[in-house]
Amino acid sequence: MDNLYDPAVIKKILSRHGFTFSKRLGQNFLINPSVCPRIAELGGARPDGGVLEIGPGIGVLTNELCKNAKKVVAVELDGRLLPILSETLSEHKNLKIINADVLKLDLNKLLAEEFDGMPVTVCANLPYYITSPVVMKLLEDRLPVESVTTMVQREAADRLCAPLGTREAGAVTAAVRFYSEPEKLFSVGRGSFMPSPNVDSEVIRLNIRKTLPQVADEKLYFKIVRGVFTMRRKTLLNALSGSLGIDKAAASEVLKSAGISPTARPEQLRGEDFAALCEELSKSGAAH
Ligand code: SAM
Repeated sequence: MDNLYDPAVIKKILSRHGFTFSKRLGQNFLINPSVCPRIAELGGARPDGGVLEIGPGIGVLTNELCKNAKKVVAVELDGRLLPILSETLSEHKNLKIINADVLKLDLNKLLAEEFDGMPVTVCANLPYYITSPVVMKLLEDRLPVESVTTMVQREAADRLCAPLGTREAGAVTAAVRFYSEPEKLFSVGRGSFMPSPNVDSEVIRLNIRKTLPQVADEKLYFKIVRGVFTMRRKTLLNALSGSLGIDKAAASEVLKSAGISPTARPEQLRGEDFAALCEELSKSGAAH
């Protein structure tokens, strides 16, 4: 196989196929040879397990995953990359490429059909324009996977891995913390990509929880989280009553019973505060 990390080789392959990079699809391909083996290893690719990859590009990470895992299923939206991938990855018999938008796939069905009960992990160098929706889908679909290891922009890594109760936290942080234990693995500079983006990146791993935190009403929990973070500059009293459409007296009562100051800001809440709010709101019946 050609050296797919060599920009000259990449250019040759791409020009033979008449391929031009799509900025819209977040196409920044890895050219730093040390990154993919580390993602494969830290992402848990192993001989008895499967890997779901999102956005294989021309296949640098896919190649590494195929060398280490029992089976790899890679989902690529850009149909122009399929003939390139069948050329660059022709030696791997444990690979299936699916030409689809990952956001529109029934991933639970796909995993059940393709991986035959083997342990599965997700590995990706995600297109930056859909980092949050893809991460949210992977978590909310409750896929039977051990972890999600992915490259994201540094700012996204800060948000996704932030502890709740800090300034970087947002609704997506709360969801990540609910379903997983996130960790930053290593940094990747902008020069590791072709074309080079104007931001640095970080590889993170979301270790999926086997048991989820106990909350009174999960739907209500996320309604509160999403609601108050849309009004993150307001006091909790205003954010809670405004976003959930409940009157201020009821919101004040709920905050008091949950032991939370009405003048605190949404970003100051920790997971247990959201759980307490959910419990009290659920008891009060005010949000239904
Ligand atoms: N894995 C390759 C690498 O590391 O060099 C490419 C990573 S590139 C940042 C993101 C890839 O995701 C591109 O190949 C792009 O075409 C693909 N992509 C973009 N949107 C997608 C979507 N909605 N579903 C599946 N793949 C998508």
